[in-house]
Amino acid sequence: MRERAARVADVHEIAAAMPHTTLIEGPKGNAIYQVGGKSFVFFRTPRPDAFDPDTGERYPDVIVIWVETEADKLALVQDPGSPFFTTEHFNGHLSVLVRASRLAEVGVGRHARRDGYLVVHSDRDAAAEQHARIVDMAVTGVCAAPEPLLGPAEVRAHEPLLGDAARAGFVIPGERWIDASLLIDDLADAVRSAGVDVRTGTPVSAVHDLGDAVEVDTPEDAVAGAVVVLATGVWTRDLVAPLGVKLQLQAGKGYSFALHPSRMPTRLLELSDAHVMATPVGDRLRIAGTMEFDGTTDRFHPERIQAIVRRLGPLLRDVDLTHRTEEWMGPRPMTPDGLPILGSLAAHPRVVLATGHNMLGITLGPVTGGVIANLVCGDGPGIDLAPFAPARFR
Ligand SMILES: Cc1cc2nc3c(=O)[nH]c(=O)nc-3n(C[C@H](O)[C@H](O)[C@H](O)COP(=O)(O)OP(=O)(O)OC[C@H]3O[C@@H](n4cnc5c(N)ncnc54)[C@H](O)[C@@H]3O)c2cc1C
Repeated sequence: MRERAARVADVHEIAAAMPHTTLIEGPKGNAIYQVGGKSFVFFRTPRPDAFDPDTGERYPDVIVIWVETEADKLALVQDPGSPFFTTEHFNGHLSVLVRASRLAEVGVGRHARRDGYLVVHSDRDAAAEQHARIVDMAVTGVCAAPEPLLGPAEVRAHEPLLGDAARAGFVIPGERWIDASLLIDDLADAVRSAGVDVRTGTPVSAVHDLGDAVEVDTPEDAVAGAVVVLATGVWTRDLVAPLGVKLQLQAGKGYSFALHPSRMPTRLLELSDAHVMATPVGDRLRIAGTMEFDGTTDRFHPERIQAIVRRLGPLLRDVDLTHRTEEWMGPRPMTPDGLPILGSLAAHPRVVLATGHNMLGITLGPVTGGVIANLVCGDGPGIDLAPFAPARFR
């Protein structure tokens, strides 16, 4: 079965499969799963402690799930973006709440690994310099402090896939990494489950500001709405140009391919000399790097792949570098100041941009998603958007 976002049926299936479980019916026919007379999963009827903050309406679809420890509970509820939550009523209880309508979100990001990165260098001084920079960054709280510097034998013992040119390195513990394609599949499943009409292979050819509404043209029809969010990468530039907006975006092209080593590294490798990241994704090692500015968004230069392969050679061992699959190129949306472009167009407030994430679209996407959702549907973005304004370069 393909991995997918969670559904209500999964909750029933998993709860029913626990040893010695009995299913009883609550007062309104709601399912309650118990072991030894204690409820560990129960579908609640609406109660005063969990309600829509805007309408005051009690949530009709809350599921209560027992967790093992207070730490487990905290880990699930403390992220404001998490679908899990708690209420005062549950203070001191080892349980979390989740709405059935938000279950699909539980699956999003579940493939993320937290094993950290192994940063690899051929030169010990270069490794020490980067190590010191990350120590400074860790003080600000953006990442964990790196583990001690490793010498040649130690770094190669860490990952036997590394070749003779790997002479120094260090682990940044706890850093997360993910197979981006699985994340996108989960996200698509989650928004579809929430009732969103997702159309793939449907290029938007124009955006029209109608004053009291906005409309986008597709090959099938024109779609009208109160607001359009353009999260169309470097191509956002072309979509807003007819609205009289010159967006400071250019394509910084990255290249990627997959290798098939007989033994996978245990975590993500930052191969600094080759300027690439090597990410284990299933049975492949995904290599990604390079920054090419040639004024195009789509031209693929095979020599860029060759250049990466040449630099990789001494850094890896027992990998057939001629056996490559999934060679591709993607244009990163680069901005002059390295910051994303977020927010409404000054002259067209119904047109909202969410682009320009430079090299960090996967990393920053969830934050941008939250900010833009609050801007469009909530009480405002929750942060000062001035540094990210589309018009800031004029
Ligand atoms: C080799 C490589 C390595 C990377 N590594 C990392 C990394 O390690 N960490 C990280 O955080 N990020 C990484 N990225 C992500 C990258 O740097 C970008 O930040 C990210 O792709 C930007 O996301 P985006 O959704 O804004 O734009 P894009 O990914 O460019 O997506 C834009 C989407 O809009 C669609 N579109 C465009 N025009 C239209 C239209 N007219 N109508 C309908 N749809 C349209 C496109 O088809 C595309 O699907 C990497 C990218 C590459 C290429």
